[in-house]
Amino acid sequence: MNKIIPQPGIMDIALYQGGQSHLAGVEHVIKLSSNENPFGPSPKAIEAVRNSAATLHRYPSTDHASLRAAIGKRHGLDPARIVCGVGSDEVLQFVAQAYAGPGDEVIYTEHGFSMYPIIARMAGATPVMVPERERRVDVDNILAALTDQTRIVFVTNPGNPTSTMIAEVELVRLAEALPQTCLMVIDGAYAEFVDGFDGGASLVDRFENVIMTRTFSKVYGLGGMRVGWGYAAKAIIDVLNRVRQPFNLSLTALAAAEAALADQDFLSFCQAENARLRVWLSDELAKIGVASDASCTNFILARFADQAEAEACDDFLKTQGLIVRRVAGYNLPNALRITVGDEEACRRVVAAITAFKRGAA
Ligand SMILES: *Cc1c(COP(=O)(O)O)cnc(C)c1O
Repeated sequence: MNKIIPQPGIMDIALYQGGQSHLAGVEHVIKLSSNENPFGPSPKAIEAVRNSAATLHRYPSTDHASLRAAIGKRHGLDPARIVCGVGSDEVLQFVAQAYAGPGDEVIYTEHGFSMYPIIARMAGATPVMVPERERRVDVDNILAALTDQTRIVFVTNPGNPTSTMIAEVELVRLAEALPQTCLMVIDGAYAEFVDGFDGGASLVDRFENVIMTRTFSKVYGLGGMRVGWGYAAKAIIDVLNRVRQPFNLSLTALAAAEAALADQDFLSFCQAENARLRVWLSDELAKIGVASDASCTNFILARFADQAEAEACDDFLKTQGLIVRRVAGYNLPNALRITVGDEEACRRVVAAITAFKRGAA
């Protein structure tokens, strides 16, 4: 018998399923399954990556001072209260590792990001799933699930894969009702897709137990680089830095993120195209009987009659070289998550789903 056994909970972790990216035998594939930026990274980020190549023998900065200063300046935040991670996934993992362990409960919501239960179990804690209401985070349901063991509540706002968001007053209500011993994490991976939304930064300033996480993977088009950050009270940042490896972010990743942040023209272009095309995509699909909630993100959640129709549509889209995301694993079996691509991609999606609906009728 094997006596080398992992810590309790580790083997309960369901491996993360990423968006598919290839289709055997199909050419001109468009990947709309991982909410990536259809316009790629900023040309300035590409240039910064090239320029970093000559100094790859050097260790990167351990304190990320330059990137934190740039983020602080851009968002009007104190750089001393920012921590950077290998994607925001790593920041989320720091939070779970530092603040939850065996016997503790970590709350996430029904359609919430699948990384939350994974990182809770990595820390040995117990993930607790709370129902949403009509594909929206429900604060009352979260409050009803609190116990003396609850240490962390994860809320994605706007949500993935729902694309919906809840109002700031609801987040304030949640923060006010949480015990001081319980952290609230606002995952703002899609905050840049909501005009004028601060991602939850003002809540962090108001409540000592609130953390905001952000990423360069979505609107900044740097998913391949793995850069994210968190903003919280100084005392929390001091804790998170203790479980962070000193060289977690590579020289190249730091350079890319800083250059991307500086290219606000590219950011504005991507935001404007996304805002225009998500409405167009949603409206065109509504005309052919495929409903979706008004999207606050860079994807839409297209709803079908039932799971069979959603899966049949997904199969058909694959034959057309279009990869979207099934979300049955997020308790949304009737839906498909479709990233808002560029205009050509959106037109191809509408044409293909129209053809599917005609064929099915
Ligand atoms: C994409 C995404 C992230 C970001 O992950 P990174 O590790 O920064 O690439 C975080 N939360 C949600 C809900 C996401 O969809």
